[in-house]
Amino acid sequence: MKCNKCYRPLHDCQSCNGKGGSGGAFGRVNCSRCDGGQVCPTHGKHWK
Ligand SMILES: [Zn+2]
Ligand SMILES: [Zn+2]
Repeated sequence: MKCNKCYRPLHDCQSCNGKGGSGGAFGRVNCSRCDGGQVCPTHGKHWK
């Protein structure tokens, strides 16, 4: 996938290893540093 703003290839989020969040006692928790496990090197989670 690519960023919708700068069309660079997205990277896997370092914080959640590209999973987009983690499961926990309270159900699925979205990662706060990415959107769906991917981030733009320039725009971070705001690539959509
Ligand atoms: Zn971007
Ligand atoms: Zn993440």
